[in-house]
Amino acid sequence: MDKIQMVDLLGQYRHIEKEVNEAMRQVIESTAFINGPAVKSFEQQLGVYLGSKHVIGCANGTDALQIALMALNLPDDAEVIVPAFNYVAAAEVVALLKYKLVFCDVDKHLFTLDVEDVKRKITKKTKVIIAVHLFGQAAAMEPLMALAAEHSLLVVEDNAQAIGADYIFKDGSKKKLGAIGHIGTTSFFPSKNLGCYGDGGAITTNDEKLAAIMRSIAGHGQSKKYFYDRVGINSRLDTLQAAILQVKLKHLDHYITKRQQAADYYDKHLRTISWLSVPARAAYSTHVFHQYTILVKDRNRDELSKHLSENGIPNMIYYPVSLHQTNAYGYVQGENLQVSEKLAAHVLALPMHTELAKDQLQYIGDTLANL
Ligand SMILES: *Cc1c(COP(=O)(O)O)cnc(C)c1O
Repeated sequence: MDKIQMVDLLGQYRHIEKEVNEAMRQVIESTAFINGPAVKSFEQQLGVYLGSKHVIGCANGTDALQIALMALNLPDDAEVIVPAFNYVAAAEVVALLKYKLVFCDVDKHLFTLDVEDVKRKITKKTKVIIAVHLFGQAAAMEPLMALAAEHSLLVVEDNAQAIGADYIFKDGSKKKLGAIGHIGTTSFFPSKNLGCYGDGGAITTNDEKLAAIMRSIAGHGQSKKYFYDRVGINSRLDTLQAAILQVKLKHLDHYITKRQQAADYYDKHLRTISWLSVPARAAYSTHVFHQYTILVKDRNRDELSKHLSENGIPNMIYYPVSLHQTNAYGYVQGENLQVSEKLAAHVLALPMHTELAKDQLQYIGDTLANL
């Protein structure tokens, strides 16, 4: 059995090595490193894949969120609701832009935002809800969009962890995540489901006006070179990364299948273990398993983590604290965030990537079952 890794980017590269090398060679020989043709063609291809009219590449997923919020041009006293059990990016950009950060709790089974708690936290000043599709499946977008419409709020989907997942509406129709809210954002950080070989990100929207504003913001606020319409930032998707992403986008559905197969294997072998629970799957979403996160119920999580590591099974805690328990965001009043706190204390992520072999999965399953 090969050594088990948390993610295996080299193993994945080996399958697409020729295609990727050729794509990179073409960019280098063209010397069109900044805003080269691969950026535009990748944006178009991603738009087709997601069913989103406009895609704007940018430097990373955090910038994507920042550009989205800047484009919405909110009043100074606007409140933005963000789940507390989350990666830092969404909370960070709200705080950076000096809007009022309001944390909502998450669903105890699905780990995505709790719509009932969002409802409780809406005030007259609420303008935006950032729906994070955590670990690879959707936040409850259908009730959330209805709630947003009722209160005239905007919804930004943070799709950094769930690109390629489908939302299944009550009437049976489907949409890709990132194409449902007013704006979607994503990240191409190497370990993401669609990862490049450095930093990258994108913004998606079906709103032409917003798209033009966001494209302008990402490029120093100019619509014409050296003529500045607004204060912007410098956030570009690198041409080399776009060329790599064009290759990898063709394989995304296959990568998703590989992750789902690994998750199905885990489910089957871990479901009967009484001291943990396997990830719950939402009826309204497919799950693309950016992470396979178990809940450790009747065991000491740190001891378990250590035991797994000692037995050659890497594992990680995403996320060990709820954001309202951190130094930087502790100023935000953390009302009713018990589930976020509890998850932070009990979650554990197992190895999850496209290259996991049967014998590795079996070894992980057996090790956990024999504890
Ligand atoms: C990775 C990630 C981001 C940020 O992406 P970067 O490209 O690292 O800036 C934002 N939100 C979520 C949920 C993420 O997982």
